[in-house]
Amino acid sequence: MTKSTSLQTLRDSLPRSDRMPLVFLGHGSPMNAIEESENTRAWRSLGEILPRPKAILVVSAHWMSRGTTMVDVSAMPRIIYDFYGFPDALSREKYPASGAPELAKEVASLLSSHHGQEDDTWGLDHGAWVLLKYLYPAADVPVFQVSIDITKDMVYQLEIGKILSQLRGRGVLILGSGNVVHNLRTVEFGGKPHDYATEFDERFSELLVKRDFKSLSSRSTFGRLLAKAHPTLDHYLPTLTIAGASDARDELTFVTDTIDLGSISMRSFVFHSK
Ligand code: ZN
Repeated sequence: MTKSTSLQTLRDSLPRSDRMPLVFLGHGSPMNAIEESENTRAWRSLGEILPRPKAILVVSAHWMSRGTTMVDVSAMPRIIYDFYGFPDALSREKYPASGAPELAKEVASLLSSHHGQEDDTWGLDHGAWVLLKYLYPAADVPVFQVSIDITKDMVYQLEIGKILSQLRGRGVLILGSGNVVHNLRTVEFGGKPHDYATEFDERFSELLVKRDFKSLSSRSTFGRLLAKAHPTLDHYLPTLTIAGASDARDELTFVTDTIDLGSISMRSFVFHSK
C-alpha cells in the first residue's frame, strides 16, 4: 500500500473501481458549515471526485449510545443543531436528504452481533450534515447514521467496520466523521499545533499507512498521549470504523492534514481500491 497526500491520486483511480471508497473526515468546529477554509475546499473537491453512491452511511462522533449500536431508519432524517453559542446562521442551514429505511433496517440486523437496533429519533447531527453539505451539496443521495457504543473498547469499532465493509460492493459510501486529535480543553484560537497533537497525529498516520489497526485500537500504543489527544474517545472511534472496513486491496490517500486551534487535527483520509 502506498500513501499519497494528493487528491490527484483519487481523481486517477476512483472511476476505475467498482467498490465504494471509505472516507474519514475530520469535521472540527461547526463553523465549518458556513466558513470557507482550506478544509472545506478540500471536502468540496473530494465530493466532485467521489463516485455517486446509492446511499451514505455515516458514523459520527456525535451520536453515542450505551450498550447498543443504533441505526437510524427514518424516511426523512431531521437535521440536528447540536451545538450552543454559535451564530444563528448555523441554525438556518438545511440538508434535506432522504433516509434509506430498508437498507438501514438491514444494517441493524447485520449488526445484531453488536447489539444493532433500529432508531427513528436521531437524524443527522452536525458531524454528518456539515460534511455532507460539501460532499453532496444537492442532498440527493439517501443518508443514514449509525451510532457509536461508547461503553465498548476500541476494537469493537474495528469489528463494526469489518461487518459494514460488505456494503461497499453494493454502492454504499461509508463516511466516518470525528477528529484524529480532539482536545477542546487545550483549544487556542489562532494557536500553533501543540506538540502532543502533532506527535499523536503523526503516530496515528504511520500506523494507518502500515495498516497496523491492532496498534491503533490499543490503549498501550499511545500511553499517556492518548488521554491528551482524546480526553474522551468519541472523536477517535470513527477512524477505527473506517479502518476496520478497509482491506489489503485498498490504497490510502490523505486528503487534508492540518491541525486547527492547537489541538484539533483535521486529518482526513480515503481508502480506495487500487
Ligand atoms: Zn465534533
